[in-house]
Amino acid sequence: MLVAAALVSLLLSAQDSTLIKNRRLDRNQTVARALYDAGLDETTVNALHGALSAAEFNFKKARPGDQLRLVFRHGQLDVLDYRRSLLTEWQVRREGDRYIGRKREIEREQRVDTVELTVESNVWDAAIAAGERPDIAVTLSDVFAWDVDFYRDVQKGDRMRAVVEKVIHKGRTLEYGRVLAAEYIGSSVGTKKSFRYKLPDGTETFFTEDGLSARKTFLKSPLKYATVTSGFGSRFHPVLNYVGKHNGVDYHAPTGTPVWAVSDGTVVRAGWDEGGGNVVCIKHVMSFESCYMHLSKILVKPGQKIAQKTVLAESGNTGKLTTGPHLHFALKRGGGWVNPLNQNFPRAEPLPKTLMDDFRGQIADAATRLAARPMAAFGTK
Ligand SMILES: [Zn+2]
Repeated sequence: MLVAAALVSLLLSAQDSTLIKNRRLDRNQTVARALYDAGLDETTVNALHGALSAAEFNFKKARPGDQLRLVFRHGQLDVLDYRRSLLTEWQVRREGDRYIGRKREIEREQRVDTVELTVESNVWDAAIAAGERPDIAVTLSDVFAWDVDFYRDVQKGDRMRAVVEKVIHKGRTLEYGRVLAAEYIGSSVGTKKSFRYKLPDGTETFFTEDGLSARKTFLKSPLKYATVTSGFGSRFHPVLNYVGKHNGVDYHAPTGTPVWAVSDGTVVRAGWDEGGGNVVCIKHVMSFESCYMHLSKILVKPGQKIAQKTVLAESGNTGKLTTGPHLHFALKRGGGWVNPLNQNFPRAEPLPKTLMDDFRGQIADAATRLAARPMAAFGTK
């Protein structure tokens, strides 16, 4: 009885002497400063500094928000955990009178998963509502760049399903890998399905179920869907104008939104225009020419050959003919302006018949996953 009581009191006192301090690196705070601020003396800070350096810790890469966890026992620092991200962590432990540091390997798991989004207001919010990371919106906009304008075509009630690789740590998605298959069911664009296929030369690209290329000679939108931050993006909704005299389409986009070249071509203009501000124009095949105006930043030079989907500029609010941040996008064909929204652009080459069997074999698993009824649908009659 007495022994048990003594043991309990010993355990209690041992617990009492353990102190844990959690800190986050402040703006302009060095790691050493944070350690001093946590109450450590110079000798200990120097010892920790040495132990971290020996474990390949790069002090220059310390960033505000990095997490520190200090465990003290009997007034002495026992363990320091330093977490830079979910994947990068260091631990320094006291062993006798020395501190030993090591970089921790964080276990992660690769998994192929099905993601399903239903749009209420925009794709970004739909991702969050589905328990996904919002960057899946950007990933999917890349896959559908030839068929869906993520600034214009997305309507309430539209659905997206995707079979996608995920990197998972402790049940949380850290990042998305390749999209293997995706389906868009939209009220204005209809149903679009894309499957990733690895061609014999090793390149991977998207095709429809019938082996037609998902790529077209022109993108559906000149704006890369990249709504700068989630907070802004969730409220952002483009307003589009297309009027007779106005020779193009206006996308109301926050300054800094990446602007894509809608097709392969040669830059024929990259400079200043009084009305259009910073302007880029590109010459394409079939006597097409595309122009992008009011840019904040131009990233290409006249004469430069660029590929479709190259980010050629950032949108802005420059020039006299602008009343707020937007991208003016215009398309010429044979020298005259045409409406970019109602052009029917041809698809890239379909798969040769000789590859169709291989194609069907490669996409079979993803196609089955894509067609599977979503979990939520079970039980609803
Ligand atoms: Zn305009």
